[in-house]
Amino acid sequence: MEIELITTGTELLLGRVLNTHQQWLGQRLADSGHTLSRQVTVPDNGQAIREAVQTALGRAGLVITTGGLGPTSDDITRGMIADMLARPLCRDDSIASHIESFFERRNRPMPESVLVQAQVPKGAVVFPNEHGTAPGLAIEVSPNTFHESGKPAWLLMLPGPPRELRPMVDDQALPFIKKHLPLEQAFHCRTLRSLGIGESTVEEMLLGQLKPLMDRGLDLGFCARTGQVDIRLSGSGPEMPALIAEAEATIRAAIDKQIYGTDDETIEQVVVGRLIATGETLAVAESCTGGLLGHHITNVPGASAIFAGGMLTYSNEMKQILLGVNESTLAQHGAVSKEVAVEMAEGALAVSGADHALSVTGIAGPDGGTADKPVGTVWLGLTSKGSRPLAIRKFHPYDRETFKHATVHQALEMLRRRLQKTG
Ligand code: ATP
Ligand code: MG
Repeated sequence: MEIELITTGTELLLGRVLNTHQQWLGQRLADSGHTLSRQVTVPDNGQAIREAVQTALGRAGLVITTGGLGPTSDDITRGMIADMLARPLCRDDSIASHIESFFERRNRPMPESVLVQAQVPKGAVVFPNEHGTAPGLAIEVSPNTFHESGKPAWLLMLPGPPRELRPMVDDQALPFIKKHLPLEQAFHCRTLRSLGIGESTVEEMLLGQLKPLMDRGLDLGFCARTGQVDIRLSGSGPEMPALIAEAEATIRAAIDKQIYGTDDETIEQVVVGRLIATGETLAVAESCTGGLLGHHITNVPGASAIFAGGMLTYSNEMKQILLGVNESTLAQHGAVSKEVAVEMAEGALAVSGADHALSVTGIAGPDGGTADKPVGTVWLGLTSKGSRPLAIRKFHPYDRETFKHATVHQALEMLRRRLQKTG
């Protein structure tokens, strides 16, 4: 079945907002065995939306639109589609009362105009919006006058804001697609997530060994992000679970140490989960990552059970005052050095009383690099009660934000490997 996505929003075309729906929805659909065959972005303009929807209905069995369901004058998707399909709009009382209580709970006066979101094209299935006011809508277009042979299609309208769209897709749209547009054969997918090994190296190591399984129908995909490579094993049919299991065993035999998790797991979830399981605690001492390490750790629900806290010591003075880093160590080796990384981690361990402490010190750039410590150089430190301190040097010559993310992932990976050994 062909699936087409129409993202609406002039702001997307002006480059003011990044079109994350395409990537996120594409991934979610692929993970459940469907692939997007086409994606188009159109401005908030009735004619453009109408043309895009009509063209898509002429090809696809499922057309998804995003955005334009809100109450403002540029939100025209709902009305335009109702008009195009000659479905009169009727007020849905349960949506209206949801919208009213949405405003009541927030103690905000409700402008009358927002009730336009309670207008539903006749016969549409409603996806209540748990995180906003505009519900999602699904309409079966049957007969489908836009298709040569009248082949029926489903039209799904989803809200624009990602924090509204994503839970709606996971909780309502995907189960709906599964029920109304079932796959001919069950689809299976498993992703192994690795850190600290390059994409081409992974491919070179694995491709030859996995070739026989691929010849039997296994689909192998690599997705690389800075410092991380996801290895995706997927395919359809009754044989697939066994093929995927065999492929996973082969991959683990080759690079098990580098695999930190599976499917949607993040490195911070794995580390926090492991610490929760062993009842150990963690503290961090950060410099160049500016608090991002603590941010990632505290993104994981339940982190308070294991995270003592962090110190953000950007200047040399703060490293001395908060972490007890020696002035002479700083003078002799510089702030970005193995010695300072170790003293930072030791300081964090001592101050917090935690079982483990991670430290980060590096040169994010664009200035500040030298011949032996170029921009992108970073030292990561790790101390644990009863173990010798460890420090590793990494090189992440990227823009500041990517540098920070890559560094945080490496620091968490360093701890994960230690926990794996002792855990
Ligand atoms: P609202 O009720 O907030 O108006 P809506 O369903 O009408 O919701 P839009 O007005 O089209 O949706 O978009 C609302 C916001 O959602 C946009 O300003 C933008 O920040 C975000 N957004 C919309 N489409 C996308 C997209 N494809 N990718 C990422 N963000 C998006
Ligand atoms: Mg809007």
